[in-house]
Amino acid sequence: MKPEVTSKGTWVHRFAIRLFTVAFAVLVYWVLGFFVEDIRSLPGPDYTAVEKKHLDKELLAKQESLAKQIAELARQIENQKEKQRVVGDSSRSLQQTIGQLLELQKLGMQKSVAFSTTEQENFTRSLNLFLDNQRKYQELSQTVSEMLERKQGLVREKDLAAQELERQRQPAREEFSLLSQKHRMKLALMQLAILVPILALAALVILKKRSSIYSPLFFAFGAATLIKVAMVVHEYFPSKCFKYILIGGLLLVVARLLIYFIRAIAFPKAQWLLRQYREAYERFLCPVCEYPIRVGPRRFLFWTRRTVNKMVVPTDRGNQEEEAYTCPSCGSRLFDECPSCHKIRHAMLPHCSHCGAEKN
Ligand SMILES: [Zn+2]
Ligand SMILES: [Zn+2]
Repeated sequence: MKPEVTSKGTWVHRFAIRLFTVAFAVLVYWVLGFFVEDIRSLPGPDYTAVEKKHLDKELLAKQESLAKQIAELARQIENQKEKQRVVGDSSRSLQQTIGQLLELQKLGMQKSVAFSTTEQENFTRSLNLFLDNQRKYQELSQTVSEMLERKQGLVREKDLAAQELERQRQPAREEFSLLSQKHRMKLALMQLAILVPILALAALVILKKRSSIYSPLFFAFGAATLIKVAMVVHEYFPSKCFKYILIGGLLLVVARLLIYFIRAIAFPKAQWLLRQYREAYERFLCPVCEYPIRVGPRRFLFWTRRTVNKMVVPTDRGNQEEEAYTCPSCGSRLFDECPSCHKIRHAMLPHCSHCGAEKN
């Protein structure tokens, strides 16, 4: 096999590759974010609709009308109190007037001056007015206290209705929370339904093409997807659950890496390569490039991995002499001379088929 020629490039190139790898990862993360956002904006359950289903409509209407009545009554009470205040003010001024008139009368009596008819009339009128006012004031007080009583009754009734409604709201709330949870779960599954296949694709590409020169691209893509999946899982599943998923994922990755390195030390790919070579030789294909090994009676034929078993190989026994062979396509040495018995042997298999000598 040819030695791999790797060019490291100038530091500017290497820096640019790293920079653009990061930029690519950020962009991928961003694009995935758009998908996730779109799913997340799907409308959830409507609380008012759920509540409507559970609440007694009549009771609700009753509560509303009671509230209106109470407000109206409160306004009326305020009016009555205002009137009462006006009457009270006028009573107080009348009281003062009467007091002054009485004072005058007392002074007149001391000086033996009789109260004039007009003064007497004034006094009587003021007194009557005062008494009238007092009566009005009492009446207003009576009305206000009646109204207050009625209002209290209404408030009690409204409280009862509110309590009943609150009781009916409880199952509505429970149903709503259940619906919300279901909706959240649906959103999470929809997001994962988009993200997980992308992640699987990324993992597949990384596994297949990790030695490709474009591997930074695949790794960036995979890392961005993995982070997005982790974010979604973390957001939607309880953190305890997430912890186990994360730990499980990490365990898998670490175990996979460990196995890979242990294998790399224990059998440095030799066994895997040997198996691949053996299978290729069985099909008369170059183990490196799968170009047909056209030797002996197969010299003028062409086949592939699929057609190799369907071929009719000419049984002419003419030119049977074996000779060294190099793949014309990739230049790999496939058959060469055995150093111990000098016959032709498989160059990529460990033992000579004639003398059994082992090759390292
Ligand atoms: Zn080849
Ligand atoms: Zn040999």
